[in-house]
Amino acid sequence: MKGSHSGQRSKPRPAGKTAVADDESVISAVASATLRETPGETPGDKSAPHDAAVTETEAAATRPVAGAGSLGLVATPIGNLGDISARALDWLRAADLIACEDSRVSGRLLQHFGIDKKLIAYHDHNAEEIRPVLLRHLAAGERVALISDAGTPLISDPGYKLVREAAAAGIKVTALPGPSAPLMALILSGLPTDRFLFAGFLPVKSAARRQVAAELAAVPASLIFFETAPRLAESLADLGAMLGDRPAAVARELTKLYEEVRRGTLLELAAHYRDAGPPRGEIVLVVGPPAPETDIAFDLDAALRAALAKMSVKDAAALVAANSGLKRRQVYARALELAQQTSSGDQAEDEA
Ligand code: SAM
Repeated sequence: MKGSHSGQRSKPRPAGKTAVADDESVISAVASATLRETPGETPGDKSAPHDAAVTETEAAATRPVAGAGSLGLVATPIGNLGDISARALDWLRAADLIACEDSRVSGRLLQHFGIDKKLIAYHDHNAEEIRPVLLRHLAAGERVALISDAGTPLISDPGYKLVREAAAAGIKVTALPGPSAPLMALILSGLPTDRFLFAGFLPVKSAARRQVAAELAAVPASLIFFETAPRLAESLADLGAMLGDRPAAVARELTKLYEEVRRGTLLELAAHYRDAGPPRGEIVLVVGPPAPETDIAFDLDAALRAALAKMSVKDAAALVAANSGLKRRQVYARALELAQQTSSGDQAEDEA
């Protein structure tokens, strides 16, 4: 997500100083900080009017529980800085501590908004060590904000264990909603939105990608994936081979100057990006649900072929039956036919 805050259309505000130290010094400063005995006051609480229901609800949603801190999951822009919400900014300004993935990336964002806060890096490589530190601050009544490099934290970004443990410890957890690339791609895709499955990043290797696609082939929902530009054409082709040539959309550079949504079938899109070369920027891929009935037969064969390439007929049938919900006996019979076709094809080649 590096650089995703650059190239904005919104005019930068005067830069404030942001306290970004190297990760180690922030961690040790945080770990040795004296914990406060009384919870911090939420800015705005004292002046909050009590006669308007909506204002009261808003205030309640952002006010820390007395005696315990609060954890705010704060969404940040995925490109256009104008997308940060007023509540998100209020929360960040009022936070005692901001946990982020990369303090350089978040430091730039906070500096843009003139927010000067102590940052602590919380990412996949130090989460076990830092989570207890964050929980201690929360238990002492502090207000901790969790942000990711961009978008909604926890969505293919760290945080769910922190939420789980904070909630279990009786700490108030709230979210300051905002931009998220998968949802924005879905609503722009023109594909059904009533049911969708977000599957995160597609695997790097083609065989693993095909396996994931086989597992998802029977899911009656739109599918959302993250993908990188260099692998896009190949991934679209793999998905087309395994899922059938379904309608799809490639959403790119969302909220940025060169935002683009290209719609077509998986194989049309694969051909386009194979010919045009990898596009620039960040990408979300959305694939429509399977068409009822007709695609199922095609999907079954595709899923079985992928499984048969790696395992015995029996195991392939068991895997595909479990993933598709189809009867095991029916799937086994088809797996046997496909395996026989393949072996007689191989034999013919050998004899030729
Ligand atoms: N938590 C983030 C969110 O809610 O959007 C997603 C984080 S995930 C680690 C990063 C991936 O999101 C990128 O590799 C890309 O696939 C997608 N992404 C992020 N920003 C994007 C944008 N502006 N346009 C398209 N895709 C984007």
